[in-house]
Amino acid sequence: MTYKAQLDELRLRLGTAAGLHDLLAGGLGEGIDQGLIDSVLEEAGRFAEEVLAPLNRPGDEVGVSLDDGRVTVPPGWADAYRRWCEAGWAGIGAPSQFGGQHMPQVLVTAVSELWNTACLSFSLGHVLTQGAVEALARIGTDEQKRLYVARMASGQWTGTMNLTEPHAGSDLGLLKTRAVPQGDGTYRLFGTKCFISYGEHEMTENIIHLVLARLPDAPEGTRGISMFLVPKWLVNADGSIGRRNDVRCTGIESKLGIHGSPTCVMTYGEKDGAVGTLVGEEHKGLAGMFIMMNRARLEVGVQGVSIAERATQQAMRYANERLQGRSATKRLAPIVEHADVRRMLLSMQSLTAAARAICLLTAREIDLSERGPDDAARAAAGSRLALLTPIAKAFATDIGVEVASMGIQVHGGTGFMEPTGAAQHYRDARILPIYEGTNGIQAIDLVTRKLPLEGGAVVKAYLAELGQTVRDARAVNDPRFGLMADRLGEAVAALGKASLWLGERLRAGEGDRAQAGAVPYLRLFSLTLGGCLLAKGAIAARNEASGPRAIAIARHFAESHATAANGLHDTIVTGADALLAADASLFAA
Ligand SMILES: Cc1cc2nc3c(=O)[nH]c(=O)nc-3n(C[C@H](O)[C@H](O)[C@H](O)COP(=O)(O)OP(=O)(O)OC[C@H]3O[C@@H](n4cnc5c(N)ncnc54)[C@H](O)[C@@H]3O)c2cc1C
Repeated sequence: MTYKAQLDELRLRLGTAAGLHDLLAGGLGEGIDQGLIDSVLEEAGRFAEEVLAPLNRPGDEVGVSLDDGRVTVPPGWADAYRRWCEAGWAGIGAPSQFGGQHMPQVLVTAVSELWNTACLSFSLGHVLTQGAVEALARIGTDEQKRLYVARMASGQWTGTMNLTEPHAGSDLGLLKTRAVPQGDGTYRLFGTKCFISYGEHEMTENIIHLVLARLPDAPEGTRGISMFLVPKWLVNADGSIGRRNDVRCTGIESKLGIHGSPTCVMTYGEKDGAVGTLVGEEHKGLAGMFIMMNRARLEVGVQGVSIAERATQQAMRYANERLQGRSATKRLAPIVEHADVRRMLLSMQSLTAAARAICLLTAREIDLSERGPDDAARAAAGSRLALLTPIAKAFATDIGVEVASMGIQVHGGTGFMEPTGAAQHYRDARILPIYEGTNGIQAIDLVTRKLPLEGGAVVKAYLAELGQTVRDARAVNDPRFGLMADRLGEAVAALGKASLWLGERLRAGEGDRAQAGAVPYLRLFSLTLGGCLLAKGAIAARNEASGPRAIAIARHFAESHATAANGLHDTIVTGADALLAADASLFAA
């Protein structure tokens, strides 16, 4: 199962979906130019192919183990992690005042796709560390920044995110972990967290946990949650490692996929309490955690793209080797010559490319929200980022599962057999629509919080832009584009109508009806946006060597996937009634 870094595809989408050229023209930072971006991608691609990709299969087969609180990661992982840190990859996106390279998010996102395509279970650890670095860099105390952030940014120590408890998943307001103030600026934490990725391992000398917990006087619900920094090993004032803290991995989850990633039960305060310090303000922990989670949501979307890419590469190879049936010219043809297999392979490529384009566009908004020319430009990008984040997370992870499933189908029965590896992609992909906020929760966020942003003006501005792309595609007047402009035009119209209808439901206080249509709305938005971004790619590349492929992918997406738009519109507008009217007996267990 070889893996080839998808550099040409990334360059095309960086140029067209992320608008890299105008980002560079606007100034992304000193020394950041096309040459640097190309060489970073080349180097990352080489590392992904040579060092990380070989970890993927043994990681799945061997998995992780727990022995008296000590977690062993799969063979080769600690060495690969050391090499990855030594090469400077851990700090690629971290702030420069903490030793990071502060590269633009569009590049960080592209590189992250390469890591995750090579080995998702390995790369997941960095997603969490990166988020923890960002949260601490933004709202940590000076002391927390001094002692922890640079070490985490370099990868010397890793970070975790401890939200989930057995009775508190999507509803974090239910969490019970307690934090008791000690009167000296520290707190003692007591409680159990479950499903904690990279909660324990021995690849680094320390692990820094960001933990949500309640203070004794905390109000009920999410308004009573605070965030704490709890190191595995306490850290002395001079930065040296002190004594072992009272936090321990007491279980490793047995799970469907990502076997190489340790998913831990973490127990805080078995003895006298795990020592922690407050991050941000008391009772405002959820806001702090959202700094971490928003970036992580994009990263998880990227994981969906990555799995889809890996599954597609594997299916393409198999379809060219496997001989079955007749084609027009051969008695025994490779299955790639059959129309239905071509349908699957083109769908895999175009769905993956659309999800990639959406993720890179989202990364662009992060860059503009941080590096834009003035306050107004940064604020506008911040609003667009808020709108795009749930779309990037949910659509790209749904695509990850769908494409991995198609990858098995292309393989036939062989795909169902574990040694082939197609099954691993499917198993690994299945967590992505669940963690970092389930895709149902993302869709509700899109409809109830993002659609009404600025009185609906953010969505309206997007619709205008998408309409412009449709006009551009039509103006090209290239017969190779087929019905691309027509189909995308219909999708934009359907999205516009559905947005208006949902906005009206929200204003009328019919939240249930709006929420019933949330998942189809997110899909409708994604198909329309993804289709338009692919069209942009086709327009830009049409006179280049990459043109035929870019056009074929965009055309197939518009004519075979964006065509679902009108049906999704109808589901949103008329489907809610039957759902809400369904008798309670239909849902009785
Ligand atoms: C492999 C793995 C790694 C993980 N890593 C981490 C980690 O590092 N740190 C961490 O803190 N957590 C982690 N998690 C936990 C993960 O984030 C949660 O599983 C996820 O947020 C969902 O919570 P839940 O499992 O309790 O599901 P529930 O919240 O019980 O949801 C069950 C179903 O109900 C739906 N639902 C729930 N509430 C609503 C609502 N209000 N409206 C509509 N639908 C709703 C959900 O969409 C879902 O379909 C991990 C989980 C796994 C499996």
